[in-house]
Amino acid sequence: MVNSITRREAGFLMSAGIAQGQSGPRVTVVGAGAFGGWTALHLLRAGARVTLVDSYGPGNSRASSGGETRITRAAYEDRVYADLTLRALEIWKESERKWNRKIFTPCGVVRLEGKASTGAAKLLKVLKDSGAPHRHLTAAEATKQFPQFDFTRVESVIWEPKHGLLRARQGCQAVRDAFEAEGGKFEQRALKPGDRVEADAVVWACGPWLGKLFPGLVPVKPTRQEVFFFGTPPGETIYDEQHMPCFIDDAEPDAHYYGTPGNDFRGLKLGDDAYGPDFDPDRGERRFTESMYAKIRAYLKFRFPKMAAAPLVETRVCQYEVSPDAHLILDKHPSEAKYWIAGGGSGHGYKLGAAVGERLSEMVLGKRAIDPFFSLARFKK
Ligand SMILES: Cc1cc2nc3c(=O)[nH]c(=O)nc-3n(C[C@H](O)[C@H](O)[C@H](O)COP(=O)(O)OP(=O)(O)OC[C@H]3O[C@@H](n4cnc5c(N)ncnc54)[C@H](O)[C@@H]3O)c2cc1C
Repeated sequence: MVNSITRREAGFLMSAGIAQGQSGPRVTVVGAGAFGGWTALHLLRAGARVTLVDSYGPGNSRASSGGETRITRAAYEDRVYADLTLRALEIWKESERKWNRKIFTPCGVVRLEGKASTGAAKLLKVLKDSGAPHRHLTAAEATKQFPQFDFTRVESVIWEPKHGLLRARQGCQAVRDAFEAEGGKFEQRALKPGDRVEADAVVWACGPWLGKLFPGLVPVKPTRQEVFFFGTPPGETIYDEQHMPCFIDDAEPDAHYYGTPGNDFRGLKLGDDAYGPDFDPDRGERRFTESMYAKIRAYLKFRFPKMAAAPLVETRVCQYEVSPDAHLILDKHPSEAKYWIAGGGSGHGYKLGAAVGERLSEMVLGKRAIDPFFSLARFKK
């Protein structure tokens, strides 16, 4: 725990007209992705003197937060994620207004549930308990509401009309821009554990690189994930973000696809949520594989039959940064007193970033306890 400044002190600094962060603890945040960028900005606003560094830049093409879009949803089996998502969305909306930048598109999100889906009751309970607006539709109701989909083998659909998509790389860059505008220092450079850093605390928010940086301690594994964009018919608008929701397809027992509408005219985006093979985020070549392309094309034909002949217009290869239980890691390093670790988004971290950064900044400043649910110690049990 670093020397924390109190709210009163932070308030005094502001009311005295002294730039925030001139006398607070010095914190270096390594990694300007969804977790690190927001952590740095929240720390700065709480009065710390913050340096944010990233080897390749915020939302770069190798980062897990790179690329165009990420889905937000409160439909989780664990309440903590619904709370984080809802808080993060609040932060994004406030920030959009303040920065005059468009990051969130409220196109809604649907989750397709089949006979074999086991989690629907838990998801509905969490949605209800957390107060997240939602509706539970029959397949017939969903067919009327969302003509883009063929709901074959779908039993019901959970619809969250207030969620949607976040612009991923643009979001990271907007956070970095706000961070600099508010007095933070950003540097494009690589750091590694053991490097000399003039700081009271160092937050390692290095996404898929965490396992490499802390071998034997942080069990985060990068997995190769492919994403495909299909071109919509000329003049057709039903697949764009004004008319179509994001979706997560859990209707089949052993296949889990997701997608987003064609934001910014990029075409319908589809991906397979199953963890791919191990991947090196620094050196890995980002070319799609024929086998995944064939799988995704078959899925396109099945779920979006009117798009069956659509041409492939773009592809991306990214990586998930997977922890053993797919839950986040937000904890102190067990032996390096100054170090904090943030990561393990496991394919669902982006939407949480704004709220994760808020919590983590409070933890680093000694204002919030470490949550055992996100601790490193859970992997030792
Ligand atoms: C295809 C795909 C689809 C996804 N879909 C969703 C979705 O729909 N919804 C959702 O919420 N999440 C989704 N995710 C997951 C989400 O994007 C990630 O969990 C999240 O972006 C991780 O953010 P991060 O800040 O932990 O990591 P990153 O974004 O990878 O950031 C880490 C940063 O650290 C930097 N760095 C690493 N090592 C060093 C070093 N030594 N020195 C300096 N800098 C360093 C890197 O350059 C990088 O910028 C998806 C991910 C992928 C790949």
